[in-house]
Amino acid sequence: MTLFEKIIAREIPADIVYEDDDALVFKDINPQAPTHLLIIPKKPIPRVGEAEEEDQPILGHLLLVAGKVADDLGICSTGSGFRLVVNHGADGGEAVPHLHVHLLAGRQMQWPPG
Ligand code: AMP
Repeated sequence: MTLFEKIIAREIPADIVYEDDDALVFKDINPQAPTHLLIIPKKPIPRVGEAEEEDQPILGHLLLVAGKVADDLGICSTGSGFRLVVNHGADGGEAVPHLHVHLLAGRQMQWPPG
């Protein structure tokens, strides 16, 4: 069982900010921005490159949840914004093998990312 599956099962604590039947959103334990959330599917898809055709609805759902949570936080409005990041594999910087979308906000993001 991965770390994030244990968070879904409430076996380890997390600061959960949103939940529905298919997704969970919680605060990153090591935030890289004033707002740093992780949006994860409850289905244990290891990483984006291993998602299947049948996962199309959940992949779309994760982005819709990101937009909804960002809207709820008031960071969708003009003048602010946010960044979504999905890391895949070693070069991508992936550390936890359970698909997750990082939502970063509250500071000016740089390009290119490190
Ligand atoms: P990644 O490097 O894309 O796999 O991102 C994994 C993220 O999970 C990192 O930003 C970590 O800070 C975060 N993380 C690891 N353990 C926990 C935890 N127990 N609760 C919340 N976030 C965590």
